[in-house]
Amino acid sequence: MGVDELYPPDRLTAARRATAAAGLDALLLTPGSDLRYLTGYDAHPGERLTCLVLPAEGEPTLIVPRLERPAAEASPAPATGVRIVDHVDGTDPYPLVVAALGGPVTAVGLADRMWAEQLLALRAALPDAAQRLAGEVLRELRIRKSPAEVAALTEAGAAIDEVHLRMGEWLRPGRTEAEVGTDIAAAIRAAGHVTVDFVIVAAGPNGASPHHGTSDRPIGAGEPVVVDIGGTMASGYRSDCTRTYLAGGGPAPADFLDYYAVLRDAQRAAVAAVRQGVTGAAVDAAAREPIAAAGFGPAFLHRTGHGIGLDGHEDPYLVAGNDRPLEAGMAFSIEPGIYLAGRHGARIEDIVVCTTDGVQRLNTTPTELIAL
Ligand code: ZN
Ligand code: ZN
Ligand code: ZN
Repeated sequence: MGVDELYPPDRLTAARRATAAAGLDALLLTPGSDLRYLTGYDAHPGERLTCLVLPAEGEPTLIVPRLERPAAEASPAPATGVRIVDHVDGTDPYPLVVAALGGPVTAVGLADRMWAEQLLALRAALPDAAQRLAGEVLRELRIRKSPAEVAALTEAGAAIDEVHLRMGEWLRPGRTEAEVGTDIAAAIRAAGHVTVDFVIVAAGPNGASPHHGTSDRPIGAGEPVVVDIGGTMASGYRSDCTRTYLAGGGPAPADFLDYYAVLRDAQRAAVAAVRQGVTGAAVDAAAREPIAAAGFGPAFLHRTGHGIGLDGHEDPYLVAGNDRPLEAGMAFSIEPGIYLAGRHGARIEDIVVCTTDGVQRLNTTPTELIAL
């Protein structure tokens, strides 16, 4: 998979066309997934300004700090046709943005997660320009993944599956969540990720907190343990997979096996519901209905899933109210959970891709409860 396939130059053309169609004069993209999507440049976010200026009409310019020029030149960005302009420490880079726009502008689209200090500096440099979100334009381009992007997500899914398959090496009663988490983080890197984005090891009562992280609490014998892990590959694309384990050395809590079976059926039903034309809300309902029917409705306290790509969470979201039909190429998580406060919890998460004839799971390890 070549970099030119993953970050093809024609994205800039598509983005310029969409920018004009949205009534914007230009996009201004500081470091983040939108900049990387369009240029392949994994820019360093810092207090020095890095900004892609993409006028709807005219040439794209990538403004970078001089000390980061070599990194920008080594990235796929030059091959996409952007001109690189640098600024030295101690000079004001914002006039370079104004110059790169090539004329007066009335509305610009800013990277959705631009830092406030940059947003305010751009407002001062372009006082007559309305500021909107670049996401209005780029979300629609990013929501359907190309075959090269699906291949990159497949590679990420296989890498995180490798880590889950090794869980028995680390997850034992008496070890703390943090100790297990350290081993998992090393394995996430060893499996081919360049960064570890999150490691959740949530044992016993901590399993009832969906975004727990890790703690110094030792894992108890027979405790359910929610392990949700993910990282970013060199391609820029991300993994995210949850399995729930049962620590060895003791029996499972009385009701846990029953509700785990409900959760597993719900997760499978939601995966099976994915196909072109079905809405995100309908897939959410497919996961939620069996859980509610078993009496655990309020214990499933988050949406069923989120899109994934260059961001860990992006469109589409599988949530009540999302009436947009799924389309081939959309990639997202299916991750229902049941959380019983003060006691324990469970979650099962796979990344899947909507295909022309159904659904493809990118995480393929079994979803049965795994007793270690
Ligand atoms: Zn989450
Ligand atoms: Zn996750
Ligand atoms: Zn997720």
